[in-house]
Amino acid sequence: MPTYRYLGNSGLKISEITYGNWLTHGSQVENDVATACVHAALDAGITTFDTADVYANTKAEQVLGDALKGQRRESLEIFTKVYWPTGPAGPNDSGLSRKHVMESINASLTRLGTDYVDLYQAHRYDTETPLEETMQAFADIVRQGKALYIGVSEWTADQIRAGHALAKDLGFQLISSQPQYSMLWRVIEDEVVPTSQELGLSQIVWSPMAQGVLSGKYVPGQPLPAGSRATDDKGGARMIQRFMTDDVLARVQQLKPVADELDLSMAQLAIAWVLQNDNVAAALVGASRPEQVAENVKASGVTIPAELMARIDEILGDVVERDAARTAEGAPQQRPS
Ligand code: NDP
Repeated sequence: MPTYRYLGNSGLKISEITYGNWLTHGSQVENDVATACVHAALDAGITTFDTADVYANTKAEQVLGDALKGQRRESLEIFTKVYWPTGPAGPNDSGLSRKHVMESINASLTRLGTDYVDLYQAHRYDTETPLEETMQAFADIVRQGKALYIGVSEWTADQIRAGHALAKDLGFQLISSQPQYSMLWRVIEDEVVPTSQELGLSQIVWSPMAQGVLSGKYVPGQPLPAGSRATDDKGGARMIQRFMTDDVLARVQQLKPVADELDLSMAQLAIAWVLQNDNVAAALVGASRPEQVAENVKASGVTIPAELMARIDEILGDVVERDAARTAEGAPQQRPS
């Protein structure tokens, strides 16, 4: 059973292994496999599920909602997001305007088959909408009971600070940030994490396994494993490319003895690694098969001794990305259409 952690400075507890369905549900995997993965997560004690309206252009929310049908709602924490375009991608079909936020929450709730989400997240910062307008819309959604808590994703430290202050003025709390974070991608450590600690936000981190790369299954010079994300022509292969260099893959192979020393698989080591950071409330882990869920959940509660943390740093060396500027650089400069 996974351990629970508080989400930010709130009373909400979430499973530190959270199940996410980007690139899988409604896309890479068939619906029966998706349902089996959700049931494997529930069987393993995972109670927290993360999705977004844009995943598989709204199909992922629908698949998750269907898979969770019949479960006791109070025993689940369901998270979704708004920002990226869905539907016909008209001028108001993306971003964080009051119009798009209000319309999107209703559509997400319908697809998820629930009256409320536990966490509603701004999937990126919208440079075209006054932040006051966005935060007022979120405040109204919280008052309407359609979302219990509000979070953001891939916002810079300054954007988090500004959003947090407005939320406080409006009488609700911004409690989470959802950034990419893994042994290979540590850009949040210098700015986003200290700011979040100061303000009472947690990180719920995506791609803790670098999309499967840190499981060690991609061996330099060898064929790609059948059915893996790197072979997924519906989007996965393109997304994982940033990590698929011989240098990265060769260094990842050298992590195997570290995992062995802890009696962990490499996938478990990667997930446990992000959970060593106190500001991380959950590792958002994806899966294309139920067996992966059962394996991954065992990363919960593991302590990695300091000398092994240092050895991981030595092995990975300069393939680790640490530049705090990458958060802003990776964000859209204008609303996508
Ligand atoms: P991971 O780094 O956990 O990668 C998951 C993928 O790795 C699986 O789909 C599977 O792919 C492979 N895998 C999983 N377990 C194992 C295992 N034990 N052994 C070998 N391979 C394994 O995270 P994701 O990139 O999937 O992201 C997780 C979640 O984070 C998303 O679902 C979403 O909720 C969130 N996210 C948020 C973003 C944001 O902008 N806010 C952006 C991206 C993700 P396969 O078997 O096909 O190789």
